[in-house]
Amino acid sequence: MQQWCKQQSTVGFVPTMGSLHEGHLSLVRRAHQENEKVVVSIYVNPTQFLPGEDFASYPRVPEDDCNLLKEISDIVFLPTDNLMYPINKEAHKVSESSLSSKLCGVSRPGHFDGVLLVVMKLLQLVPATRIYMGLKDYQQQLLIHRMINDFFVPTQLIACPTVRESDGLALSSRNKYLDQKQRAVAPELYTKIRTLVSLAQSQGLEQAQNTIKSQLTNLGFIIDYLEILDERTLEKVSDLNSHSRVFVAAYLGNTRLIDNLGVSDA
Ligand code: AMP
Repeated sequence: MQQWCKQQSTVGFVPTMGSLHEGHLSLVRRAHQENEKVVVSIYVNPTQFLPGEDFASYPRVPEDDCNLLKEISDIVFLPTDNLMYPINKEAHKVSESSLSSKLCGVSRPGHFDGVLLVVMKLLQLVPATRIYMGLKDYQQQLLIHRMINDFFVPTQLIACPTVRESDGLALSSRNKYLDQKQRAVAPELYTKIRTLVSLAQSQGLEQAQNTIKSQLTNLGFIIDYLEILDERTLEKVSDLNSHSRVFVAAYLGNTRLIDNLGVSDA
């Protein structure tokens, strides 16, 4: 794989955990447009799941995924656990201590260590020109961007817009877990963060956040966080500006949904 990559003029790389949907495919298509060759990896990475999370039940449909990728990917890379973690999953760590302690890092401690570790390993195996990641997982792509810079990894990160259902729900492999009633309510997460941006402009940040939190709670969401932060640093902001971004994570039943929206995109 390393040698093959070096033989190409440009390689676009899309790491995924499979169960592919249009969100993933939008990244692959973009990679296909911008590079001579495209590599898509499918690997449900054990080190980014916490005990009690959905590692065992995470949807795995590699044949379907490969069919979807036939026309738009040159290589589908399905590494095994043995390749990725030959001796010990804890042998090496890639930890970040600032951005990873916020938002999803609070309720999923250690999650981002697992993500950074696997992406660092994948980027050694697939030394691509560009790596494509979704803004849906904003914190993840920001952390990987930092890691690439800090470790001088010669791959450029391209962050791609969130693909949504027509009702606004961000596509996610975990949407499959929603029952019919939950699926009907789920798009409200996006609707409410859009409303939050306009309310924050008229009511101020804190009051607007409280209003939206109670509206989401009344709809049946259990809120993990709802925050307005500077999208470059994930620090709290006191006033909205063009770098402000709303971040939300909330449960519907056992399913954890995340979304985010840049104030300038609202
Ligand atoms: P995953 O398979 O969940 O690890 O996601 C693989 C890549 O697809 C990550 O870079 C995600 O941010 C991206 N992705 C997932 N859902 C979407 C979406 N709805 N729109 C755009 N990118 C997405």
